Amino acid sequence: MPGVIDARAGAVLSVDLQAIRANWRLLRDTAAGAVCAAVMKADAYGLGMAMVAPALAGEGCRVFFTAHLDEGIRLRPLLPADATVYVLHGPPPGTARDFVEHGLIPVLNDPAQIAEWRALCRKLQRRLPAALQFDTGMSRMGLAPADVDRLLADPAWQDDMKPVLVMSHLACADEPAHPVNASQRERFAALRTRFAGIPGSLANSSAVFLGRDYRHDLVRPGAALYGINPQPALDNPLRQAVSLRARIVQSRSVQAGDIVGYGARYVADGPRRIATIGIGYADGWLRSLSCRGHAYIDEVRVPFAGNVSMDSITLDVTGIAEDRVQPGCEVELLGSRQTVDDVAREAGTIGYEVLTGLGSRFHRQYL
Ligand SMILES: *Cc1c(COP(=O)(O)O)cnc(C)c1O
Repeated sequence: MPGVIDARAGAVLSVDLQAIRANWRLLRDTAAGAVCAAVMKADAYGLGMAMVAPALAGEGCRVFFTAHLDEGIRLRPLLPADATVYVLHGPPPGTARDFVEHGLIPVLNDPAQIAEWRALCRKLQRRLPAALQFDTGMSRMGLAPADVDRLLADPAWQDDMKPVLVMSHLACADEPAHPVNASQRERFAALRTRFAGIPGSLANSSAVFLGRDYRHDLVRPGAALYGINPQPALDNPLRQAVSLRARIVQSRSVQAGDIVGYGARYVADGPRRIATIGIGYADGWLRSLSCRGHAYIDEVRVPFAGNVSMDSITLDVTGIAEDRVQPGCEVELLGSRQTVDDVAREAGTIGYEVLTGLGSRFHRQYL
């Protein structure tokens, strides 16, 4: 039975920190032998880094990743002093010093970032820690093979800086049979032999489940912490971490031929009941769910009627008891009956996009 939700909000997002902690433990145990980090980019995938990061630190997690320097600066004070924060995008030009000031470790992705980091090391006369990222085939970020050759051709490179991690990222880890996985794994293995003694990391959430060959010294799950299924072809071993309940603003009867919503995409084929809820695409409830999405009223799955608006969605609630479709009544958009992955499938996207798109207008509860 859902609780009474805050009467002033259009919707309430509940984040289950216990579930996120349990998911981290499951990933840690699955990857036993490797360090299990946690990826906090995009405000912990939209769920609130300020709450999620300390919860995971309390569980024993000591290595965290953000995408941007700015995110790292905000994350650092939320964590114990012995935690490590890596910034995946490395230093934007001219920002190397910020990493030192804020106790962050850059992931260096190209020769210019390496040059800037080494220059700072020489200037401060300190071997500052950094991670190196290799491009093993995704062509998105990381050193190209020629960059690696050039780096290693200079024997002095480790005199300046201290490489503490070498890493790469998989393009197709959620498709276990995809040949790109093995190809990237082999390229990474070959590169690691050239960086002997430096810990390696290749695995995101999905790759944790690809087997020991992919886990190396450190795994970097993000999505799985937040309940997204890392192996879409199999049952999800992780717990759902979010629920989202929206409130009905108004209900009305329509007759045959009446249209509902922008573009008149829904035309009533007879007497219907329509309920309008106070959440829309400005809250991340994607417009591609128009005429396709669903909500739950108790156990009943009710379809979206027509287009998703900016701040509202119309539902066809014909046949639902009147006392469940009054203004203020709640409907479930995410929860045990409809997961983030379910919504993503209907919207034609992935759970990552649904989670990170969740808006800022909800009232948020942390359990
Ligand atoms: C986002 C990201 C991760 C985490 O990926 P998930 O699929 O969410 O587990 C790990 N490593 C890098 C480089 C990333 O960009």
